[in-house]
Amino acid sequence: MIWKKEELEYLKENYPKNIPLIEISEKISKTLRAIQHKAAREGISRPRFPSNNPSEKTPRKIIDERYYQRNKDKVYKRKVSRRWNLKKEVVGILGGKCQKCGYHKCIAALDLHHKTKNKDSSITLLINNSSRQKVLKEAEKCLLLCANCHRELHYGDHS
Ligand SMILES: [Zn+2]
Repeated sequence: MIWKKEELEYLKENYPKNIPLIEISEKISKTLRAIQHKAAREGISRPRFPSNNPSEKTPRKIIDERYYQRNKDKVYKRKVSRRWNLKKEVVGILGGKCQKCGYHKCIAALDLHHKTKNKDSSITLLINNSSRQKVLKEAEKCLLLCANCHRELHYGDHS
């Protein structure tokens, strides 16, 4: 997750204060997890004594759900752009064009065909749900094919 300079400054100033994390989360539109992770990486600490503020006691699941409800569009867009960027990266690594016919006009018409498993959904699922490293590792086992060549390959012996 990319942090803007002013978001980081806000974090540095307010994280060490004993204000509920949810307030920081609302202010800079980041999940609690992202905030805590960033603070840890930046070496910013926070007083450990328990707060009496009820919102601090709200379970993370509920708070994250509230964050999601308020930022649904943003979260969704971020997810979609992550998928496309990852697909672009994988396509680039595999040569950027159909390995059979050379088609390269539209990335949406380029598929990944798993060489060993012969199971195509796996890489798509992987792109949607796994870490970048995992996806890149799995991509090495794939052929990049355009939708036509891909269909032909699966039709194979039936012709
Ligand atoms: Zn092709």
